[in-house]
Amino acid sequence: MMDDTSTELSMNPGRAAESAVSGQCRPDDGLAEKSPRVMVVTYGCQMNVFDSRRMIQVLGHAGYVETDDPAAADVIIFNTCSVRDRPEKKVLGSLSRLLPLKEIKPVLFGVAGCVAQQHGQALLDRVPYLDFVIGPDNIADLPDVVTRAASGRRTSSATWMDPRSYDFIPLDADVEAGPVAFLTIIKGCDNFCSYCMVPYVRGREVSKPAGLVLDEVGSLVKAGISEVTLLGQNVNSWGRGLEGNPTFPDLLEAVSAVPGLKRLRFVTSHPADASDRLLDLFGRLPNLAEYLHLPMQSGSDDVLARMGRRYTFAEYFNRIERVRAACPDVALSTDIIVGFPGETAADFESTMDAVRRCQFDLMFSFKYSPRPGTAAASWKDDVPEAEKAARLAALQAMQDGITKSRMQRFLGRVEEVLVEGPSRDSRKDGALQIMGRTRTNYIVNFTVPGGRVPSPGELVDVRIERILAHCLKGVVPG
Ligand code: SF4
Repeated sequence: MMDDTSTELSMNPGRAAESAVSGQCRPDDGLAEKSPRVMVVTYGCQMNVFDSRRMIQVLGHAGYVETDDPAAADVIIFNTCSVRDRPEKKVLGSLSRLLPLKEIKPVLFGVAGCVAQQHGQALLDRVPYLDFVIGPDNIADLPDVVTRAASGRRTSSATWMDPRSYDFIPLDADVEAGPVAFLTIIKGCDNFCSYCMVPYVRGREVSKPAGLVLDEVGSLVKAGISEVTLLGQNVNSWGRGLEGNPTFPDLLEAVSAVPGLKRLRFVTSHPADASDRLLDLFGRLPNLAEYLHLPMQSGSDDVLARMGRRYTFAEYFNRIERVRAACPDVALSTDIIVGFPGETAADFESTMDAVRRCQFDLMFSFKYSPRPGTAAASWKDDVPEAEKAARLAALQAMQDGITKSRMQRFLGRVEEVLVEGPSRDSRKDGALQIMGRTRTNYIVNFTVPGGRVPSPGELVDVRIERILAHCLKGVVPG
């Protein structure tokens, strides 16, 4: 696992971006041979992946097509995440390696996302080869910003919008590639956990109105999307401030009823806001997949209090018991930070005990490191680096064993798998391997002996025959 400090959605309980990925593709179909091209490189969580698609979408409306080839790009944007360690350095390093392109043609370099929001004009002042900086709230301005930059006016557009007038950009369904889609339903966070930068770089919570969410899900399904993941730093707060104060369970029920939606997921939930009603929906809504990411962060009540998490371990564990009572097979994942300021050996032992009791399917664990501007950054970072590393290694070794034993339950079972496409090792064993995911979010590579090869987005029953370290292997029964 990464050496980093966690934040909800900074980790990846699924398929998105722990490392750099390019944005989703609007296919460059050759019809637009003369169209300008944009390349977006994404660092960070699914929210950033979603924002990258919105950038591609707004530039698409301005005539751009997407490319993943820097040599072909007229505009290169690095969409960044400042909850990660030294992201600015990483991004600027990547951009400087692309600098020779500027000698060949007038390519524009932009930085977007949390780093852009955090540094704004200062970043432009410091980096002479950067042409524009754009914050997450200003994506609608991107075509203007690019036009200005193309005429030599370097621009920083990184201002917060007033939450009362925040305007979500509706998602064009055709920007999606593949059978699964992410959809932001709430932006920002009001929790101010003491270690986390999100409220400073993503602003206050603003919920997307239900009508807009339902329209977007409907058009995604019409465009062939089978699975939608509703996104937010804390989806459980969805609805606050909207007319009639609807709740997240209300929204889940409504989205679940969209005709043709095969699977529904959501991420991330704050344990203090995970209501009984929400947890009871698992096992009740037929297309709500049995997977819940519930960041615990620590098993020590003292550390949780200093983190500002608003729950004790007992309260957290009660949430785990509730969801398992509603849906015994649910897969659970979590985030843990080790070496938080003041974390004693006894505190760490409490975390080990807590993880042992919770029996997570998956854990994302990180060494604490201070983030500028947060409350914890002003406290002494007093757990020595070697001790943090030792605690992290012990925790991960224990979780590896738990994951392995949790996976055994699938052996011999027939699981519903949503097909995503050919597996990476497609024809390694001679037979065509297909990749998909179980409802519990495990990757399955499987074969279809003698049968029709299923298309991406289809649901197929797969018998699980082998358990590997990070995925399951199976076969479609004849
Ligand atoms: S401040 Fe918000 S985003 Fe950050 S860890 Fe806390 S709940 Fe998650």
